[in-house]
Formats: sequence, structure tokens, C-alpha cells
Amino acid sequence: MDIKDLQESITSTKNDHSLFEKSKQYSIEYMESISTRPVFPDDSSLADLNRFNEELQEAPSDPHELLTMLHNYGSPATVAQTGGRYFGFVNGNILPSALAVKWLADTWDQNPALYIISPIVAQLEMVCEKWLVELLGLPDETAAGFVSGSSTATLCGLAAGRDSLLAGKGWDAQERGLIGAPNIKVVAGAQAHATVFKALSLLGLGRDRAFLVPADDQGCIIPEKIPELDDSTLLILQAGNVNSGGFDAFEDLCAKARAAGAWTHVDGAFGLWAACSCDTKHLTRGIELADSWSLDAHKTLNAPYDCGIVLCKSRDALISSMQASGSYIQYSDNRDSMLYTPEMSRRSRGVDLWATLKSLGKNGIGALVSGLNQRAVQMATELESAGFQVLNQVVFNQVLVACDSDELTIETLKGIQKSGECWAGGAKWLGKDVIRLSICSWATTSEDIKRSVQAFILARANALTK
Ligand SMILES: *Cc1c(COP(=O)(O)O)cnc(C)c1O
Repeated sequence: MDIKDLQESITSTKNDHSLFEKSKQYSIEYMESISTRPVFPDDSSLADLNRFNEELQEAPSDPHELLTMLHNYGSPATVAQTGGRYFGFVNGNILPSALAVKWLADTWDQNPALYIISPIVAQLEMVCEKWLVELLGLPDETAAGFVSGSSTATLCGLAAGRDSLLAGKGWDAQERGLIGAPNIKVVAGAQAHATVFKALSLLGLGRDRAFLVPADDQGCIIPEKIPELDDSTLLILQAGNVNSGGFDAFEDLCAKARAAGAWTHVDGAFGLWAACSCDTKHLTRGIELADSWSLDAHKTLNAPYDCGIVLCKSRDALISSMQASGSYIQYSDNRDSMLYTPEMSRRSRGVDLWATLKSLGKNGIGALVSGLNQRAVQMATELESAGFQVLNQVVFNQVLVACDSDELTIETLKGIQKSGECWAGGAKWLGKDVIRLSICSWATTSEDIKRSVQAFILARANALTK
């Protein structure tokens, strides 16, 4: 086969509209069957995954065949997180309006690195930046970079903070690196997310060097235990503890940090969205006093993966930490997105973020955000009435549940995960085994919560008769 044969074959695929119709049909079948699928794949669907264990064959494959193979054996082995009864991790769902837009945007296959590579994506990212800053109530000048998720957003926010603190000491970290640099003091909560420590290690600041401020029984920093802050301190706070949903006391802590000349980063992967609803806004009071923030649109907002955002009050600080140069790179007077992110080429996530924000509007975003927590409160209340213990204050989407003993909790969780009725994960909380629920899908109804509570009760009864 030579390139001409290959081009002919690819062109005939492109012209074969029935292939794209089939893809559309499979997608719609998947969407329509979501509420009747087991929430976690059953054993026979998992066994079928072996069908993908094949050698890559010599000749091209028929695209119809591989699409059908994926639908027949791939779709049943997905986790039904676009349904209403998936409560594992903090995953979110996908808004159909954004999905439809993404189908079109995937067809465009744009690269947002530079304005001259994709004016439309540059425009939409600029609009999203403005909307996000307003929605979250951040300082007007705040800049946004569109990254894969909060792991990367935190990396970017902390890089900007590190470089900016060192610049204040007359040290150009971008040019000179960290060897021989003035000391940076890192202060984080004892319950900071794992990705914060990963970012610290990637940034040469070390996982183990951070001063960990003791946390209270909701996993939040105890403000009185904050050490002396100064103009070489990187302070890392959290909006939404990944287990309890708890929020640090931003007003107090950010003001202190600002007065001391420290840099404050807020990891608000799912919790920063609390700022968008009147019911939960109080949790984020004071976030506007920080210097940088990380946020995931693919969690609470239900945008498609992958859609993380780094926000930085100082546009210059973010750009100086992320900037790259090369004779072929042409910056423009418009938005050149690679100035704000570690990546150069990437997918045009600003398009589906724009669609998510625009399709919901401010009212829809508020209703989504407060609705998720209302379902979490319902879940907690009904589980408590059924004799389960709820170990956290349910302030934002997270519910930590325990039975009367660790053994019973573990066995009950296994039963729930096997049931296909709903899915929750496990964690340790204050020394106890817990079932960890996160309500973060637009699709979860009051009925879904009731049905899931029944699955909890049945799983516990089965565990007790073992
Ligand atoms: C999910 C989460 C992260 C990591 O975000 P990714 O998008 O998975 O990279 C960081 N911090 C918190 C609090 C989270 O909930």
C-alpha cells in the first residue's frame, strides 16, 4: 500500500456518511439506555474486554467494524457516570448541549496554541475568561489558562506563585532555576489534595518540605495554627475538601497572607463553583483576596472532560511562568492561549466550556450548583434515618457514611459496588472506614437518591447475614 492508496481509502471513509450516521446512532442509543445500565459494568461485560487484546493487524481495518466493536464491547464496559446514580469520586457528568457542540468542534480539530492557528477558539477562550471571572467574583484583571484539569491548574498557579515570590527577592527563577535560589516556604493544610503535593514535587519545592497546618474534623485548616507568613511564603488553601466538601476560612487566611506579602493559591477544583449560587456563596467568602485559583469545569459544572482552568490575578505572573519562545512562534495582539498554559498544542476545550456556560446561563449554573448540594443533603438525611452514620457536615456535595463497625462498612460498600444500582467509593476519615459519596451530576434526581438509599439498606442487610 502506498500513500495514494491510503489517501483514497481515507477519502472514501470521509465521504461515507453512513459511518458518521452510525456513530451518531450508537451515541444516541448509549444516551437513551444509560438509566437502565448497571452503574458499574457486570462481570460478563468486563470479560468481553479481552476481545480488545489482539495484535495490531497488517492491513487497515474497516471503520464500520471497529466502530461496531467499540459499541458492542466498549459501551457495556463503561461506568455509567452520565446517569443519575454514580457517586464515585468527584466526576461530574456531561451536559448534552456541550456534547453536541463538542461533536462539531471535534470535526474542526482546532489547535488553540496561537490566535493565528485558531481565531475562533481564541475568541471563545477570551469570552470564557471574562465570564468565569465575573461568575466567581474574582478581581477584574484575573487571567485564565485552559488546561486538562486541576492537577495542571494547580501546577500552573504554584509555578506563577513560586516565580513571583522569587522575583520579589531579585531572583529570576525562569532563567536561573531553583539551585541556589532564596528559600520558599510552603504552607498547606494537612488535608490538601494529593495533586498539590504532586505539583510541589514537580516544581522542585518538595512534597515533604511543606509546613502542614493541622486540620479540624471537617478537614479544614485551623486558622490559629497557621505559622508566621512572610513574602517568601506560598500558602495553599482549599475550596472543597475532596472527602468532606469542607472549605478553608478564606477571608481570614487570605487577608493575613496578603498583609504579609505571601502568595495564596486556592485549590477549588469542584468547590470554587459554590461562589455561583446564593445558597453556597458564603462558603467562598474571601477567595477574591487570593492570587491564583484552580478549578475544574468537568466536575461541578458538568462540562465535558478534560476541562480544567488556572486563574491568576496577575496576568504577567502567569504569562512569565508559562511563556515559551521560538523563531516560528508568532504572538499576536489577540489571545495566544499557549501563553497561559504549559501545553502548546491541545484540544479546544474552550469551545465546550463556552457552550456549557452559555447553555446554562447564570441562573442555570446557580440552580445546578445548589441542586447538587440539595441532593447531597437529601442523601445524608435519608441514610441517617435508615440507621447509617453521616460523619461530615454536608456543606457541598460530599457525604461520608459509615455503618456501626469498619467491617460492616467495608462489606456494605462491596455490596453496593456489586449491585449495579449505584456506585460509591471508599475512604478513611478520622481513622474510620467510610463510604464516600459525591453528588455531582445534573442527572441525579430525588428518585435516584431514594433508589440508592434502598441499595445501601439491602447491601447492609446482606453484609449482616454473611
Ligand atoms: C479532582 C480534584 C483535583 C484534581 O483535579 P483533576 O481535574 O483530576 O486533575 C484536585 N483537587 C481537588 C480538591 C479535587 O477535587
